[in-house]
Amino acid sequence: MKIFIDGKYYSERDAKVSVFDHGLLYGDGIFEGIRAYNGRVFRLKEHIDRLFCSAKAILLKIPASHAAIMRAVVETCRANRIRNGYIRLVVTRGVGTLGLNPNRCKRPSLIIIADKIQLYPESFYARGMEIVTVPTTRNLHNAVNPAIKSLNYLNNILAKIEANHAGCEEAIMLNAEGFVAECTGDNVFIVKEGQLFTPPLSAGALYGITRRTVMDIAVESGYTVSEPNLTRYDLFNADECFLTGTGAEIVPVTKIDGRIIGRGRPGQITRELEEKYHALTKISGEPIYQ
Ligand code: PMP
Repeated sequence: MKIFIDGKYYSERDAKVSVFDHGLLYGDGIFEGIRAYNGRVFRLKEHIDRLFCSAKAILLKIPASHAAIMRAVVETCRANRIRNGYIRLVVTRGVGTLGLNPNRCKRPSLIIIADKIQLYPESFYARGMEIVTVPTTRNLHNAVNPAIKSLNYLNNILAKIEANHAGCEEAIMLNAEGFVAECTGDNVFIVKEGQLFTPPLSAGALYGITRRTVMDIAVESGYTVSEPNLTRYDLFNADECFLTGTGAEIVPVTKIDGRIIGRGRPGQITRELEEKYHALTKISGEPIYQ
């Protein structure tokens, strides 16, 4: 594997960052998770746009242009002969001193890893997954804003540990007001009487790129999609529920906090959206090979 760090490729063994990098010392940095399908990088521009928005929010100056990062992602895929894979793009604050002050970090580092991912087992896609709500609350807007895809995922990791303790792989996180925000690494949707609902971004959801794509597909397919505040009650009484994410794609949910959702199997609208999403991933994206 060839890993891109600041313009050079390193083998897995030699791909290293300094112990003084504030990405490591403080989680001071940002990232993106991107997919390649069928020799194309899916929704690349949207991911780089979001990376720049995260950077702006934390006052981090990315040491390359939007176009240069897009090129670097495609080139890293090519260097690793990727046709289908997962790309992790990381920008750290860079090497600094032991104090918090980011002004001591002279140059941010850009890292690109192109690899494979299998987030959930096949059985979740075939039969649906069980999830639980957990006590760890989604970040507040006036703390580390939940729209920032920062390297500090400890809040989500705590929620994930709580889900694991309950025997589940994913957790529903509520916001401080008790409304559904999202999962630890996925956005959430429900279907009720043929309409789709997903929490508004203001409830503390990440501006999910899969979320946006699924909303567009749903609207094109004639479904109404709205973004009201949702409570656990709404989830329990949904006809269908599914999660969306770059890694997870679309995964049906059939049980939440012990309540069976709908008929306890992946729903028909979920299946239709999954099929259309997969069809789209095969034909759209930035070509890796000319
Ligand atoms: N929420 C969180 C907290 C995430 O980390 C992610 C990305 N894994 C998502 C939602 C899904 O976003 P996207 O569809 O852009 O991958």
